[in-house]
Amino acid sequence: MPLVSMRQLLDEAAKGGYGVGAFNVNDMEQIQAIMMAAKETKSPVIVQASRGARQFAEDLYLFKLIQAAAELNPEIPIAMHQDHGNSFETCKSAILLGYTSVMMDGSLKEDGKTPSTFDENVEVTKKVVDYAHERGVTVEGEIGVLGGVEDGHGAGGSGLDHITDPDQAVEFAERTGVDALAIAIGTSHGAYKFTKKPDGSVLKMDVLMAIHKRLPNTHLVMHGSSSVPKDLQDVINQYGGKLKETWGVPVEEIQLGIRNGVRKINVDTDNRLAITGAIRKVLWETPEKFDPRDYMKPAREAMKKVVALRMTQFGQAGHAGDYSPIAITEIAKGYKDGSLTTRPLVAAK
Ligand SMILES: [Zn+2]
Repeated sequence: MPLVSMRQLLDEAAKGGYGVGAFNVNDMEQIQAIMMAAKETKSPVIVQASRGARQFAEDLYLFKLIQAAAELNPEIPIAMHQDHGNSFETCKSAILLGYTSVMMDGSLKEDGKTPSTFDENVEVTKKVVDYAHERGVTVEGEIGVLGGVEDGHGAGGSGLDHITDPDQAVEFAERTGVDALAIAIGTSHGAYKFTKKPDGSVLKMDVLMAIHKRLPNTHLVMHGSSSVPKDLQDVINQYGGKLKETWGVPVEEIQLGIRNGVRKINVDTDNRLAITGAIRKVLWETPEKFDPRDYMKPAREAMKKVVALRMTQFGQAGHAGDYSPIAITEIAKGYKDGSLTTRPLVAAK
C-alpha cells in the first residue's frame, strides 16, 4: 500500500470516533516495533520524524525504512509525517522526499525556541498549506505554545504557560486552512511533565471542548502525551538509571480528549523509556554480552508492547481494514475544488 494522506487517516478516525497514535521513528528497530504493533492490533498508524530524527538517521535511510514498512504491510494504512517543522524549507524538503503530511510549527520562530507572533505564525503556516495542499499533502499547525523541550525544540516552561485561546484558534484555522491543529491545553514535551501525581483533571478540557465545537472539521492534535508510566521508569532505575520521579498525562485524560475531537496523539517519551529500560536490563544482568542484537531485540519488543497498548487505548485498533487509500493526486484535487476544506466559515454553511 502506498503511504496514505494523514488527512484521510484522520477523517476516517473522526467518522469512527477514535484517535490515532503518532509515533516517532529514528531507526530501523523503532519502525519495526511500530509495524509489529500495528499488525498485531490491526491499526492504521501515523509515523513521524522530527528534524533531529532526519539528521540522526539521514533523510534517505529514514524514508526508505518507512517505504519498506509500507511495502511489507500492505494491509496497514500508514501516514508519514514531519514532526515540528520549523520553517517552510523544512516542510518543503519533507514533501519532496514523499512525506504525506507535515507539521508547520509556526508557534515558535525558526530557531524552535522563541515564541512567534500570531501574524508570523499565520503567514508561514499559510505558505506551507498552499504548497502542501497543491500536492495532496496534509498540514498540521500549532497555536498556543507547548511546554517543555524535545529534540532541542520547544520554548521550555510548564504546559500551562501559553494555553490556546479558542478565538485565536478559530481565526488561525480560517486564515490558514490547516487540516489539523495542535493546541496547548497543559501538556508538555519530554519525561518531566508533572512534578506531582495529577489528581483529577490535569488538562484544560473546557478549552479543548470550546475549540472543537467551533472547529468541528479541524482535527485536534495532542502533543507531549506520553503517560510516563511508573513501571517503565522503575525498570530504568532498577538497572542503574537515574530518573527523577515524574508523572505524564493519564490515558483517561487522552481518552476524554478523543471523545472531544482529538484525532492525533503524539507519543515518544514512553517508547524511549521502554527501549532504554530493556537495554539497561540486558546489560546489567548479562554484562558479558556485546552483540547489539542481544539488547536491541528485547528493546524492540518492549517498544512494541507500549505502542500496541496505546493503539488499543486510543481506539485505532481493528480499523486498519476499514478503508482503501485515496491517491495523493486525488486528495490534491479535493483541496483544489474545495471539497476538503476545513475552514469554519465554509463548513458552517
Ligand atoms: Zn510535539
